[in-house]
Amino acid sequence: MALLVGQTNPSRITILGASGSIGVSTLDVVARHPDRYQIFALTANSRWQVLQAQCLQHQPRYAVISDPESAVLLQAALKAQGSKTEVLCGEQALQEVAAHADVDTVMAAIVGAAGLLPTLAAVRAGKKVLLANKESLVMAGGLFTQAVQDAGAVLLPIDSEHNAIFQCMPPIAAGQPLDMAAAGVRKILLTASGGPFLHRDAGSLKDVTPDEACAHPNWSMGRKISVDSASMMNKGLELVEACWLFNCQPAQIDIVIHPQSVIHSMVEYVDGSVLAQLGNPDMRTPIAHAMAWPERIDSGVASLDIIAQARLDFTAPDLKRFPCLRLAIEAANAGQTAPAILNAANEVAVEAFLQERLRFDQIPALIEETLSTISLTEPVSLDVVQDADRQARAVAVEKL
Ligand code: NDP
Ligand code: MG
Repeated sequence: MALLVGQTNPSRITILGASGSIGVSTLDVVARHPDRYQIFALTANSRWQVLQAQCLQHQPRYAVISDPESAVLLQAALKAQGSKTEVLCGEQALQEVAAHADVDTVMAAIVGAAGLLPTLAAVRAGKKVLLANKESLVMAGGLFTQAVQDAGAVLLPIDSEHNAIFQCMPPIAAGQPLDMAAAGVRKILLTASGGPFLHRDAGSLKDVTPDEACAHPNWSMGRKISVDSASMMNKGLELVEACWLFNCQPAQIDIVIHPQSVIHSMVEYVDGSVLAQLGNPDMRTPIAHAMAWPERIDSGVASLDIIAQARLDFTAPDLKRFPCLRLAIEAANAGQTAPAILNAANEVAVEAFLQERLRFDQIPALIEETLSTISLTEPVSLDVVQDADRQARAVAVEKL
């Protein structure tokens, strides 16, 4: 907590991936607390009209847009409206607004491997980093967590399950690895809704459309993570994410299907106590928690009506129905570059599924073939990780 002393008031925030689902929820929380938060920079990939509206409302110093044509359009539109926001373009600019000396807090909400370098830039600059981009930890967890310690950054999880686990854990010294045994923690119970196909006839999964896969029963999210939730790859990625965040082994984490998404995860202690964090499934809760931590602020989320909720169900996951979850557990146990390869092959497969070039039930086979083609290495440097990522993408694209 001592690390938060340097925070300014209002706290100045960069949102990487502002135009996405997490970005929009973050801006909703920011708008509720104008005295507390000020937007320094907002970024997007290509959806410049969304970024334009956000810039006009929040007047950041910088807007970064990765696609050069969109950058030209955004710049012209903002200029025409008298906005003072400066438009930047490209990967380097993302890293600059993440690491800028005038920034206190960075929300890392770019989807996929594209989020790795800008998120790492924020970590290396010692920022308070609110981590939604789970793919960066899956790819490079060892390097990432080491960088957090080296730079004295404050890393707070936004993923609802990890935020819940964080809330149920004893206070963790900022930047220091958790010692679960010393803290009396026996295991983590990572909950999963099971997604839209929890009860669907497995034989019919070959006919699933992108819109069906993206229609999550409880959460409204971007399309990539929605497909990951439908295949349960998301829970596999979260298993790896939890191992890095809470310094533990896959065997110390039980995955539990809980279709109502009211309990967001649990922590069991050696005395038999099980602590859970509950709430309506709305990402503004973990976002507000991490933004204000260690204080609490209003997030705009409605009170949980536990009487109306009435019942909570729990079952074990079915690894036959969800082979992506099995592959991710295997990759988590294999370690080395296996999670990075899994992640890259999954990104290629999900993109192809969303473009209707691959069937939903073919996603796991493509990932499994990619994993069996590439030899694993120790992820000793970012170059090694990025090389594994590139290789996996090339293999997966070829096998498509
Ligand atoms: P969205 O698809 O809604 O948003 C993604 C954001 O990243 C957009 O701003 C998008 O810009 C930007 N982006 C995409 N590709 C690139 C790129 N190559 N370079 C720079 N920016 C890029 O995703 P979500 O908000 O749903 O998810 C964001 C992250 O948070 C993911 O890692 C996800 O796993 C994680 N997460 C999300 C949850 C949720 O409820 N949504 C819950 C837990 C974790 P543009 O709009 O221009 O395409
Ligand atoms: Mg989650």
